[in-house]
Amino acid sequence: MSIQAIKGVKDVLPEDMPAWQHLESTARKLFESYGFSEVRVPIFEYTELFARSIGASTDIVEKEMYTFEDRDGRKITLRPEGTAGVVRAFIEHKMYADSQLVKLFYQGPMFRHERPQKGRYRQFYQIGVEALGGTHPHVDIDILVLLHRLFARLGITGLTLQLNSLGDAECRGAYRDALKAYLKGKLPSLCGDCQRRYETNPLRVLDCKVDADKFGDSPVMLDYLCRGCKDHFTTVEGGLKKLGIPFQVNPRLVRGLDYYTRTTFELVMEHAGAQNTVAAGGRYDGLVQEIGGPAIPGIGFALGVERAVSLMDTAKLKPPRPSLYIAALGAEAVALTMPAVHALRNEGIRVETDYSGASLKSQMKKADKYGAAFTLIVGDQEMQSRTAVLRDMGTKDQVAVSLENIIEELKTRLSER
Ligand code: ATP
Ligand code: MG
Repeated sequence: MSIQAIKGVKDVLPEDMPAWQHLESTARKLFESYGFSEVRVPIFEYTELFARSIGASTDIVEKEMYTFEDRDGRKITLRPEGTAGVVRAFIEHKMYADSQLVKLFYQGPMFRHERPQKGRYRQFYQIGVEALGGTHPHVDIDILVLLHRLFARLGITGLTLQLNSLGDAECRGAYRDALKAYLKGKLPSLCGDCQRRYETNPLRVLDCKVDADKFGDSPVMLDYLCRGCKDHFTTVEGGLKKLGIPFQVNPRLVRGLDYYTRTTFELVMEHAGAQNTVAAGGRYDGLVQEIGGPAIPGIGFALGVERAVSLMDTAKLKPPRPSLYIAALGAEAVALTMPAVHALRNEGIRVETDYSGASLKSQMKKADKYGAAFTLIVGDQEMQSRTAVLRDMGTKDQVAVSLENIIEELKTRLSER
């Protein structure tokens, strides 16, 4: 039996690439205009980086990480998300030394051992941004506007930006106690995971995919925010309104990673279901310190590329077609046209040809299949008359072009289009 790809991972095939590339280049252009620079960090790190940053009692760390021992006996994990590695690099290279606000973006594969299904894979791609070094709520607004604009530019509509605050070290404790008191009575009816989370990480109960609709009357963090967190949240809300960025406050929005503080958000698709979040993020004011750096705040988001692409209108995004197909009929014609093939490609013109010298009929079929804009026909007759036939595949018009000067002729005619 032939060997197949690992369960839950997907090949991104050439026909998928125009949409992926359109997403990547749209994001890159937009991020750069907001002052973000790309960073590429390794796809594996020491396990303790993720355990410490994402949080030991999260789904990711408890059950989703790809962890193994390398040959030196060190515990290594394939990154399940991007922020931990970017922040690790930020600290390691002391990026905080020369600038107030450090703005970074990344893209690449992430790995989580989840149950494979539509929109949920074991290797998937994220594009994300991180802004490090700013506490001001306008940094949050910047990030949220950026997220909104990206999806607007991609022409993706029907998404809702959900916004919440998770408070900070000063106020979250009191909320956690109130939530625990509320959950206590419900405990016997909750799933096994939630019974465990009740002890280790009660906020995460609100994010449970099994028990999701049981907590409509729970206490909410927004009612427990301290003065600083409340002001921060109000400024973010006000800023978004002023800029006309629509959002909905979802007071029960919590995230699957422990490092979030204050502003947290998700971009949610209209249809219900477990895979309805396309992008998510928030502020993480304690994370840099948590993994050994100075007390520097941060905020960012990551979007799932597969989920974003599935929402894009990809009809107009077609793989590029050759400008020219050269139908060389016979070995002599192949030899004669070969320099033109390479010279034109060198000019950036996409040229396809067939080295077999097969019949005109079969080569015209090929030209059609490629979807070439023009076909150059060179057979015995053309070689004798030293003029080839250039056929416009759209209009079916044919013109004679001199073989003497074929490269220049084609360059001019193809660039005239
Ligand atoms: P979910 O609630 O769907 O499990 P999450 O909260 O675990 O998502 P994040 O860690 O916030 O997801 O990752 C940000 C984005 O990355 C998600 O909104 C989603 O688009 C994408 N994503 C996360 N996990 C997967 C996966 N296993 N396969 C494909 N995309 C994913
Ligand atoms: Mg998840």
